[in-house]
Amino acid sequence: MTARGRVFRFREWRVQPESGPFGFSMECVVCDQYGPEEESSESALGWVFAHLRANPEHHAYRERITRPYRAVPGGWL
Ligand SMILES: [Zn+2]
Repeated sequence: MTARGRVFRFREWRVQPESGPFGFSMECVVCDQYGPEEESSESALGWVFAHLRANPEHHAYRERITRPYRAVPGGWL
């Protein structure tokens, strides 16, 4: 395929989980604010208690877990 003078080739890709640390953060469902990403779920809870002290009417939270992935190039098509 040619566009603006460049040649593009199609390639197969695979996306897979990668070894590496997960990230944990907590989000307030009431106001959508969220705390910093931490290395453990327990550490992420610290933000909830601080947020609750400042916003005593915010009782619903969600844990956000991030996991590293990598796109691995395959063969050319
Ligand atoms: Zn909140």
